[in-house]
Amino acid sequence: MPQKVNLPYTRYVSPDGQLLGKLPAWADDFNLLTRLYRQMVLTRLFDQKAVALQRTGRIGTYAPTLGQEAIGVAIGSLMQPEDVLVPYYRDTAVQLMRGVRMEEILLYWGGDERGSDFAEPTVAQDFPICVPIATQALHACGVASAFKIRGEHRVVVTTCGDGATSKGDFLEALNVAGAWQLPVVFVINNNQWAISVPRRIQCGAPTLAQKAIGAGFRGEQVDGNDMLAVYDRVQIALERARHGKGPVLLECLSYRLGDHTTADDATRYRPAEEVKQAWLEEPIKRLQTFMAGQGVWDEGREQALIAECQGLVQRAVDNFDAAGNQPPEAIMDYVYAQWPAALAEQREWLLERVARRAGGSAHE
Ligand SMILES: [Mg+2]
Repeated sequence: MPQKVNLPYTRYVSPDGQLLGKLPAWADDFNLLTRLYRQMVLTRLFDQKAVALQRTGRIGTYAPTLGQEAIGVAIGSLMQPEDVLVPYYRDTAVQLMRGVRMEEILLYWGGDERGSDFAEPTVAQDFPICVPIATQALHACGVASAFKIRGEHRVVVTTCGDGATSKGDFLEALNVAGAWQLPVVFVINNNQWAISVPRRIQCGAPTLAQKAIGAGFRGEQVDGNDMLAVYDRVQIALERARHGKGPVLLECLSYRLGDHTTADDATRYRPAEEVKQAWLEEPIKRLQTFMAGQGVWDEGREQALIAECQGLVQRAVDNFDAAGNQPPEAIMDYVYAQWPAALAEQREWLLERVARRAGGSAHE
């Protein structure tokens, strides 16, 4: 008999902030909810600032997190310091929650190598942002293999967008994770768009989570704009992976409210009505309405929080400004332990140019 693929889908709070069912016990901890909410607000304010810095020519490009804050905040708040994050380029929320500094994220998008050299010891083993699509999923399996071989109770979390799930790298990673029962959690930020390609034509399968079934492990869908749902499912997935129960694939259903990156203009291919509808489901307002309904949030706290977060963002921008520029050769300094001859030659050429320019040569 052919097996029917029946995937779990989790949602606790409706888009208008109403509780839909019984919450897990941890959700009674309003201090926890406040911390999660605070971090989503901080991420959004930082995100707005990063876009503004790109528009004024201060950083090169940026991939906004707008509308997808719940996914990263949940992941970042649940991973342990000894775990390893293998992120993609839309992971500001999880990186901030892990302990990457805001100025480091600005340095990275400003083309500065110091942005991938995290100062906080708790994130020193996290990977830098991966821009090639889906290759990070295989890196994650490599790290998870090392944990398994060493018998360490550590978990790797790797993230990607909906578009990445069509790549061979992603499917190869799922396969090896299932075959070797690796301690890795794959999280798809299904924000419905892969630059200008909509989800409905990205893949013929009704869900992206079911790709895990083909690899022999658990796949689930979760409302990626419902913080309580994402937190719950990420927590359980991490526990499973940590205790040798194998990988999990979580497909978080969200929506990319902004452009793909600052190099994109989504108004050219996306109906305004669709975006307007998606705003009604965004995660920050949803958790805020839920908390207000529970009597633990009000306008006074909201205003105080915004002022606090704006101060933190501005301080990060000041630190970013104060960092100054790296020398030009830094662009080549962190690629190889030993220089291939061709690259060594180019580096010499660059250093000569820099020295001549510093000497004020008229030929430059
Ligand atoms: Mg996408």
